[in-house]
Amino acid sequence: MTTIFIISAPSGSGKSTLVNVVRCTLPNLEFSISYTTREPRGAEKNGCEYFFITREQFEEMIRDDEFLERANVFGNYYGTAKRFLNKAAADGKDLLLDIDVQGAQQIKAKLPEAVSVFILPPNRAELERRLRERSQDSEEVIQKRLKAAGREIENYWKYDYILVNDRLEDSVDTLNAILLSERLRRNGRADASLSARADSCRLEQIRERIQPILRSFGDTAASGQ
Ligand code: ADP
Ligand code: 5GP
Repeated sequence: MTTIFIISAPSGSGKSTLVNVVRCTLPNLEFSISYTTREPRGAEKNGCEYFFITREQFEEMIRDDEFLERANVFGNYYGTAKRFLNKAAADGKDLLLDIDVQGAQQIKAKLPEAVSVFILPPNRAELERRLRERSQDSEEVIQKRLKAAGREIENYWKYDYILVNDRLEDSVDTLNAILLSERLRRNGRADASLSARADSCRLEQIRERIQPILRSFGDTAASGQ
């Protein structure tokens, strides 16, 4: 049985960094390459980070019912093709989706057994530092992303796990623990120590720790739930 893992995060939190490590270290995990109508950025290549298509092509795929989920993010279409799930199932693999909050909700509504993880930065100042350090965006885009982050973060409580990406090595180990413990539990082979590490990211356990992070993004983010 294929397990779908959903990862969402505000831009700059370190999601791509974490996903790239997990993709290389965890066996039997397929990564779904999304379709998007946005322009490629930097060194992005068609079929690598995304399939870059036109609005017309995207709309044709909608008509042909090819998407498992889709959303409009920052004015562009993004969508996960059903064929990635079909292929993972045929190959006996799990599937990792890097999608936004709207997409995560659509998947959870259709497939409630999917596992969702929300990645938080340690605070707003560190998110700003990481966005600048990545030096991919103009000052205007950085400010836009920071504003959007405040809104996206309000949705943290809708996820099964909340991972604060502070020290990278710790975050990699914790994300691996979440994916592996879910996998083992579903195969009837639960591992107590992996499960304990994963459960430290459950809302009940992490609620106190994330309060200052949410407050650093302002009152709206803090009052999310
Ligand atoms: P996202 O995919 O969430 O937009 P990236 O993975 O591109 O974010 O990371 C944004 C920047 O932060 C990159 O320069 C990355 O190297 C850095 N980064 C990621 N995780 C950490 C971490 N735990 N500590 C410090 N820097 C990090
Ligand atoms: P970016 O343009 O920075 O690569 O991605 C912008 C946002 O779109 C990110 O939050 C990313 O997770 C989300 N995203 C990427 N692919 C998909 C997808 O197929 N579906 C949905 N719903 N969101 C996606």
